[in-house]
Amino acid sequence: MQALDELPKAPAHPVRIGVLAIQGDYDAHAQALREAGAEPVLIRKPEELSTIDGLIIPGGESTTFLKFLERDGFLASLQDFVRHKPTFGTCAGCILLATEVTHPPQQSLGVLNATVERNAYGRQIDSAIQTSDTKLPGGPLEMVYIRAPRIAKTGDGVTILAERDGFPVLVEQGHIMAATFHPELSTDRRVHQRFVDLVRDWPSRQTRSAHS
Ligand code: GLN
Repeated sequence: MQALDELPKAPAHPVRIGVLAIQGDYDAHAQALREAGAEPVLIRKPEELSTIDGLIIPGGESTTFLKFLERDGFLASLQDFVRHKPTFGTCAGCILLATEVTHPPQQSLGVLNATVERNAYGRQIDSAIQTSDTKLPGGPLEMVYIRAPRIAKTGDGVTILAERDGFPVLVEQGHIMAATFHPELSTDRRVHQRFVDLVRDWPSRQTRSAHS
């Protein structure tokens, strides 16, 4: 008879991950999530946040996001969500998650212990595709930058997974992930896969830390 731990595992229930679908390239994120084995859900209303296990805040224009979020108490619900649930911010999403935003200063959700400078690269090089090493397994990663911000400073608890010119471009802090580039615009799915794994593992990681 086969030992229990040799039996094939039943496929895990796909995690439901929301993509804030106010503006920006949310469809590309939804597709990337699907390819990484998650069920994407487009989020347009604050009450929809209660139906998901994790959230992606995509790139776009962070000021436009803020204007929209100020309606219907969306900002307060989002603030509550990002404090406890896995959230991945890319580009404008990274700006929205930071504790401090500069150039110019603006309101943010304040859960990523970092100072993020908007539109930090000069006009000529503000949009670029670069391939660099990261701490993710599987070799160099293509990174697409579009009017990218710069993570100028990180604080306690932030792990840097990749850098550009000595500044972090992909970071993690507990249940938060952030990238200053657009992983959804490349075909490599390792970044989304890492977030899907984080969302899947987060409930058990929390249970473990509560018991330790
Ligand atoms: N420049 C944008 C901002 O400051 C971010 C650009 C992006 O998300 N691609 O909000």
